[in-house]
Amino acid sequence: MSQRPPLPARTLKPATVAVHEGALRSQFGEMSEALYLTQGYAYESMEQAEARFNNTDPGFQYTRFSNPTVSMFETRMAALEGAEDARATATGMAAVTASLLSFVNAGEHIVAAKALFGSCRYIVENLAPRFGIEFTLVDGSDLDAWQKAAKKNTKAFFLETPTNPTLDVYDIAAISEIAHAAGAKLIVDNVFATPVFQKPLALGADIVCYSATKHIDGQGRVLGGIVLGSSEYVTGPLQMFLRQTGPSLSPFNAWVMLKGLETLALRVERQAESAARLADFLADHPKIGRVLYPHRKDHPQYEIAKRQMAKGSTLVAFDIRNGDKEKAFKVGNALEIVKITNNLGDAKSLITHPATTTHQRLSPEARAELGITDALLRLSVGLEDPDDLIEDFTIALNAV
Ligand SMILES: *Cc1c(COP(=O)(O)O)cnc(C)c1O
Repeated sequence: MSQRPPLPARTLKPATVAVHEGALRSQFGEMSEALYLTQGYAYESMEQAEARFNNTDPGFQYTRFSNPTVSMFETRMAALEGAEDARATATGMAAVTASLLSFVNAGEHIVAAKALFGSCRYIVENLAPRFGIEFTLVDGSDLDAWQKAAKKNTKAFFLETPTNPTLDVYDIAAISEIAHAAGAKLIVDNVFATPVFQKPLALGADIVCYSATKHIDGQGRVLGGIVLGSSEYVTGPLQMFLRQTGPSLSPFNAWVMLKGLETLALRVERQAESAARLADFLADHPKIGRVLYPHRKDHPQYEIAKRQMAKGSTLVAFDIRNGDKEKAFKVGNALEIVKITNNLGDAKSLITHPATTTHQRLSPEARAELGITDALLRLSVGLEDPDDLIEDFTIALNAV
């Protein structure tokens, strides 16, 4: 390995970090990060193997534990997030599951916001209780509710902000204070905000998770996830959990993610600018009712969104005016550039009808409580020219 560090020690901006940080160069000095497709590593001697396993020799042992390509991704993400350390996982759900189950024990308690990505809600509501972990779900925007839900045995607060799909924004700084006063750690699923627009650790959170499948890959190719936090947490309970249960990120997917990071800042800046334009266009359109976009003045948590997010997100949610499932389907079906799918953060613009897809599992009452109407559509804005997207919506909305 080359000894020359990839970057100078002085503080650098995220776009620079995302291009260079963590690069490990082999003896060949390759420019592009190498893809180390290997399950394991040959030791020089039996003594070295012994030393690797008792952690007195810092090299790699087995790709379920660590791999140079995966390490590059972890180092780069930790630098971007301002975290002491990070561990990558096979999917975003593996990251969320590990972030919680690595340190919350039977007989302990989790407080989570009700508005969670469907599978995250399953982990809190269905999986954790099978292992004796209690939970309370709260309205994430209600600080008193977080306060009241905290108990002596509460170990973790868990939330995502902005939420999926209604883009509610929760006050990370205020909620982290309540968590810490209760002796709990705050875990933030930062997928919708991206590491470019929101820094939960700087706002007081203890642990951040991502589905890297979304903006980090950003081109809809591979699945991945990552958990970031203090070195005590990452090299302690998290590493032990991942190492023994094995939801490791494939080196190939880590390599794709590294390449994704090089363009992350550029992509999400442009996507958020286009999303803001589309939000304004939709809000002015007679066939559209409610428009949810965190940096619009009519967003219910506009002040918090301005304070904690650099941009208003790459997503927009909106209701068809006086709409229902049929009208929402008609609009989705009439779009020609925007594709129908449930991913987000892609270079391609994507539309989802949450009530019948991502949030189908919830009861109608639970959906109503979260503001997920049958007329609601969620748009993930891609890298197309925004004028073409506006035209696509103009034509589709005229059709209903
Ligand atoms: C997609 C997503 C996940 C799960 O990620 P996968 O990579 O699909 O496993 C978790 N949380 C949020 C907010 C997401 O959008």
